[in-house]
Amino acid sequence: MTVRVRIAPSPTGYFHVGIGRTALYNWLFARHHGGTFIVRSDDTDAERSTQEYQDDILEHLRWLGLEWDEGIEVGGPHAPYRQTLRLERYHEVTDALLAVGTAYPCFCTPAELDERRRAAMAEGRPPGYDGRCRSISPTTALARRGAGEAASVRFAVPRPGATAFRDEVRGEMDIDHANVDDFVILRSDGSPTYHLASSVDDVDFGITHVVRGEDLLSSTPKHILLTEALGGQPIVYAHLSLLMGPDGRKLSKRHGDTAIRAYRERGIIPEAMVNYLALLGWSPGVDETVVALADMVERFELSDVSRNPAIFDPAKLEWMNGVYLRELAVDDFLARTLPLIEADLERGLDDEELARLAFIAPLVQERAKLLTEVAPQVRFLFVDEIGYDEDSWAKVMTADEIPAVLAAAMDRLSVIPEWKTAAIEEALRAMLETLELSPRKGLQPLRVAVSGSSVSPPLFESLEALGRGPTLARLAGAAARL
Ligand code: GLU
Repeated sequence: MTVRVRIAPSPTGYFHVGIGRTALYNWLFARHHGGTFIVRSDDTDAERSTQEYQDDILEHLRWLGLEWDEGIEVGGPHAPYRQTLRLERYHEVTDALLAVGTAYPCFCTPAELDERRRAAMAEGRPPGYDGRCRSISPTTALARRGAGEAASVRFAVPRPGATAFRDEVRGEMDIDHANVDDFVILRSDGSPTYHLASSVDDVDFGITHVVRGEDLLSSTPKHILLTEALGGQPIVYAHLSLLMGPDGRKLSKRHGDTAIRAYRERGIIPEAMVNYLALLGWSPGVDETVVALADMVERFELSDVSRNPAIFDPAKLEWMNGVYLRELAVDDFLARTLPLIEADLERGLDDEELARLAFIAPLVQERAKLLTEVAPQVRFLFVDEIGYDEDSWAKVMTADEIPAVLAAAMDRLSVIPEWKTAAIEEALRAMLETLELSPRKGLQPLRVAVSGSSVSPPLFESLEALGRGPTLARLAGAAARL
């Protein structure tokens, strides 16, 4: 059997970390088994679906590197992989189920259903549909529909009965049909429900494994019943535990950003995101946190996915991003940061500036956790006027010895023979000795004077990259501002 898996995001929101993890697990499972990864669009909710969300989902699947073999935009034998373009098929299936009595029309109005639901709850009975229209004879039902009476279509769940299945993550499940009401498959306006559209697609597209969020576990008996009624091959299910915030509550906007886009914009790189998402519930079997993608593909098994809730912690993600940033080849790091630097400066860099950036970049790379940290740290190299960070200034530039420090630094730096890191360091260390100052007291003011901030790349290299003329000018500028 060739593995065929899918994700089925609804374009009703931005691509978020939860669906990102689900997509990744499907992708890893498909790649591990040499199978097919499919992306379809569950876009039947016309009111909430937008093209912007659809684009965001596909853009970020690609950004993560989760290319799909079949599906929306890429096509395939079951194109189009878009539910709104398959409505006829859902009607055809509904008619077939009605014809054999596996489904039946329901004439109950929303108001009636609501009233009975309340009554049931008040009497302590289960609030699900009570099956009232199931006993209407097919001839009567046909006549009522013919007369124009609005009807939805419900699935006739076998009673008594139960649906048992083995969930790859959660183990054996056995659901008594007493807990599964006769669910709607087609609404009275003719639109298919999620249960119908999803099951028909899974059967039609030959899906072998459904790997999705635990919030859909209670729908699975319905999908199994539908799959059987459609004559489909049994599907293997795996339900992934929900993601929690660091406080142990269900992950939501309350915890901060959940959209993958937000993390990308914040300077997370896709390799780190993939690695972090992979570990939200899956363990590669060894005590490792940084795992190469090829190793993940080789080791990924659904049976190693935990059923315990996984915690999404942006601080850990940032830590991991730092690890990945340090592992990038310098050229790669530069290529990823240059667009951000140029956007920050609102201009391109010339060759001489690029050379200075290449000199300083590895030093920033060693310390950064986010790509977005780089531009503000190197800005001082490429602007005529630096703005001073007022907090840094207030903290560092107000001590009594500052005028003497700046004057001594200017004296020393103006006479060194070669403007290189080693000579700059030697001159400034000699200055510290003469003034009897610690590096923190004596060098931090120079950092603020030349870069505007107490956070910058290492000082001696920064001065080399800036050049002697601009360095002396900034020291003088800072002295004048004291
Ligand atoms: N369209 C559903 C959602 O966005 C997913 C359906 C499924 O995976 O079965 O949550």
